[in-house]
Amino acid sequence: MPAPQTLIAGVRAEKLEAPMRSAFEIAGGSLDRLQNVLIQVRLKGGSVGWGECAPFQAYNGETQAQALSSARSAARWLAGLDAARHERLAEALAERVPCASARAGLEMAVLDAWARFARVPLWVYFGGAGRRVGIDITVPIVPARDAAAMARAIRRFGVRALKVKVGRRAEEDAERVASACSAARPRTLIVDGNAGYSPAEALRLLRLLSRRGIRLDLFEQPVAKDDLDGMAEVARKGRCAVAADESAASPADVLRLARRGAAQVVNLKLMKAGVRGSWAMARAARSAGLGLMIGGNVESHLAMTCSAHLAAGFGGFRFVDLDTPLLLSKDPMRGVRIQRGGIYDLSRVRSGIGVEPA
Ligand SMILES: [Mg+2]
Repeated sequence: MPAPQTLIAGVRAEKLEAPMRSAFEIAGGSLDRLQNVLIQVRLKGGSVGWGECAPFQAYNGETQAQALSSARSAARWLAGLDAARHERLAEALAERVPCASARAGLEMAVLDAWARFARVPLWVYFGGAGRRVGIDITVPIVPARDAAAMARAIRRFGVRALKVKVGRRAEEDAERVASACSAARPRTLIVDGNAGYSPAEALRLLRLLSRRGIRLDLFEQPVAKDDLDGMAEVARKGRCAVAADESAASPADVLRLARRGAAQVVNLKLMKAGVRGSWAMARAARSAGLGLMIGGNVESHLAMTCSAHLAAGFGGFRFVDLDTPLLLSKDPMRGVRIQRGGIYDLSRVRSGIGVEPA
């Protein structure tokens, strides 16, 4: 007999929008306003859970309109089902909802509603390894001078892990990385090509950086997502750890990457594989001996704190790239916030994600 209090009484999907301080540009395009979808799940017993869908057209082609209509059609189907069976619901959503970000937001809201009902903070649900994570902050594709100003602000905020977007033209990209580096003096340095380079161009960037005495801790997605030989070549010839982001959207992808030597680290994102899918990818990466990274699209504190729970609770994430709430000039959420030094502290979350609309 299902516990009637955990039956889903209603699901609502609406636009979640917020202004950004400045445009966020990556190899595939740019975004100047948060244009996501907010999901609310109400249970019969009165618990309410929240989820966020973050489509990012420049990353994988998904739009807010697609995410909203997918979420609304799935909402009708979810009503009356039992949130306590969220694992089965997640599997069913994966089969029924083609839009990955819509799926992730729905799954997040169902899990949050159930966890609030059960009074379990999500970091405990994900394994309880820890309750804090520290993030890197990203400098997007901007002229070198602006990169330096952003990097100074990152340093002032007390964050010493720096990520710089690259993937356009190696010379300009190297300028941006060098200028951000000398201003931020990071302890950890990541660059992200967002699939924008050929293997030769990626290796050229590494040479240009090495001439300036700059060594990377991680080169994220240097080449096209299906070019696993190219990924392996950059790692081997560049003597650099490579992370798969666009190339890794499922546990099967993770195992394939490990087998081919195409990546040493996997970047998980709820908006690619959903909550359970990302958790399964983390287990696959750990058992295949790959390092763990977690990131996101352009997301508010709601979706990013859900990811912080997964990283903290599962443990062992060396790279935590959950900084996009800092891009918003008006934060639409309340609850957990990124603290000075780039820390998500989840220790005061009593149940669920611990974030809701302001
Ligand atoms: Mg990436």
